Amino acid sequence: DLKGTFELHNGIKMPYFGLGVYLSEDGQEVINAVKWAIEAGYRHIDTAAIYNNEKGVGEGIKQSEINREDIFVVSKVWNADQGYESTLKAFNESLERLDLAYLDLYLIHWPVKGKFKDTWRALEHLYRQKKIRAIGVSNFLKHHLEDLLLSAEIVPMVNQMEFHPYLVQQDLIDYCNAHQIQYEAWSPLMQGHIFNLDSIKKMGEKYGKSPAQVVLRWNLQKGVVTIPKSVKKERIIANADIFDFELSKADMAYLDGLEKSKRFGPDPDTFD
Ligand code: NAD
Repeated sequence: DLKGTFELHNGIKMPYFGLGVYLSEDGQEVINAVKWAIEAGYRHIDTAAIYNNEKGVGEGIKQSEINREDIFVVSKVWNADQGYESTLKAFNESLERLDLAYLDLYLIHWPVKGKFKDTWRALEHLYRQKKIRAIGVSNFLKHHLEDLLLSAEIVPMVNQMEFHPYLVQQDLIDYCNAHQIQYEAWSPLMQGHIFNLDSIKKMGEKYGKSPAQVVLRWNLQKGVVTIPKSVKKERIIANADIFDFELSKADMAYLDGLEKSKRFGPDPDTFD
């Protein structure tokens, strides 16, 4: 169900379905989205310093009926803050804005060249201090992970990547699985473009499900954590209604086969 988890390599349980809040406005918009999601059963919220809404996310959690310990809160260190000391500072500022005592997961947002290894040392330090229950990366391709693993003392627990039927990157998923790095999808709905794909619409009709529900179900059946974004109550509820059907092997394979190496977001090799 919605509260289901995948276990990270340090034993921490990460709810495999969460709410993304990129482009959700700080203040009432994000407060409502977080409250509605928690009410609907979501137990995982994905924000970042650069989203400028950590304050509202913290407020939404506070206003919900659920205890903080039962919600998996994720944030990310922004590119401009990378480096050892500046990451420690950025982390504290995120905690202050969220008004929380600890984070469940903290990610390096992008692999900034020449800096991400120092940033990682800062995350390892914060993890050892028990300020963060799990640490990970985002937008790390195989060569970034190989490079990081040369000096890392702790293997990242998560890699959050753009992932949808047009950008599957199965080799990278396999690499992460082999290293016990939990794969996580961002822009699972192709930032809304998923609704234009007739074949997925048709597949959904067979199950009585929307295109969003089909692809989110595909994420979970592939073992990929997913964090669709919406600020609309009906959509927040509908996106999570994926636990009463199962995609067939053939439909799973069909969705895997739509891969086109097409990005809707930046390329990790040229964005830092
Ligand atoms: P998404 O693929 O989740 O799509 C969100 C958009 O789809 C919404 O703005 C809305 O317009 C539409 N939508 C959602 N549900 C719908 C429904 N039921 N019916 C019709 N339309 C619907 O895109 P996203 O926000 O880019 O990605 C999800 C989350 O991933 C973000 O909010 C953020 O938390 C995270 N993210 C991380 C990175 C990173 O670099 N690590 C980058 C982008 C996003």
